[in-house]
Amino acid sequence: MVKNINGDIYSDLITVARPEAFWSGGERSLSAIRYIVIHGTATTNIVGAYSTWLKSRNNQTSANYLVTDNDIMGCVGENFIAWHSGGTGAITNANSIGIEHINSSIGNYNDASTYLFSNQTLENGARLTAEICKRLGLKPDRSTIKMHREVSATACPQTLNIDDYVRRVQKYYNGTQSAATQTQQQSTKTQSGGLLPMEFTFQVSGDKAYDPRTVYYANSARGIYRGLTDIDEWNVIKNIYKDSTGRDMPHYKWDAKAPWYVRAIVGMQLKKI
Ligand SMILES: [Zn+2]
Repeated sequence: MVKNINGDIYSDLITVARPEAFWSGGERSLSAIRYIVIHGTATTNIVGAYSTWLKSRNNQTSANYLVTDNDIMGCVGENFIAWHSGGTGAITNANSIGIEHINSSIGNYNDASTYLFSNQTLENGARLTAEICKRLGLKPDRSTIKMHREVSATACPQTLNIDDYVRRVQKYYNGTQSAATQTQQQSTKTQSGGLLPMEFTFQVSGDKAYDPRTVYYANSARGIYRGLTDIDEWNVIKNIYKDSTGRDMPHYKWDAKAPWYVRAIVGMQLKKI
């Protein structure tokens, strides 16, 4: 199953679809996809990782997915070519999906051999890779799953043990428990360090553009937010969300100076309607 977010086709395992415009080499058919290329970001700065792919920065790099401990993030739809591998041989951006994994250095920042992946990030990436293999009819083995450095000259994905990664993929591919169910259980995010869910409400103090007494509803997938008129409207929205997701809709209270405020309103470029 897939999710269509404003024309971007993603695995339904995604917990977040980034609304920013990322670099892309144009549209393609999903049937063109033959390979999945595994990457490491060489940083745990999630916003920093995907911000380098912004079209406005013109770095000409991007990835289809970014995987963290807590999220499987859709960045460039599978139906668009992400610029992640630089391949000129059999494996190219046009015939592959690029999955970036957050990782961190435990030693010399400039030494790729010190960058380690967390177990949870590897599990999330493997689950996503298994779902893609199943859905696109690709073999969940080394004929499909490639390291970036097998495609072009790079240290990426640093210390990743590809055989271990493929074993994890096969565990999900052959597993009886639905991968979608597992992600659903851990997809709810909270205030610190995580990323915003697609729907939430918030209040802002310390910014003249917002009435601090007003509760605003935001839909980050649609890139919009609006002020709610009264408590009844808020309750209706909360009830619909709970009925459809089984969870409480997150509500945030931000000071205009807080980093979360900047990420939500400026970083996500939400438009008031
Ligand atoms: Zn890479």
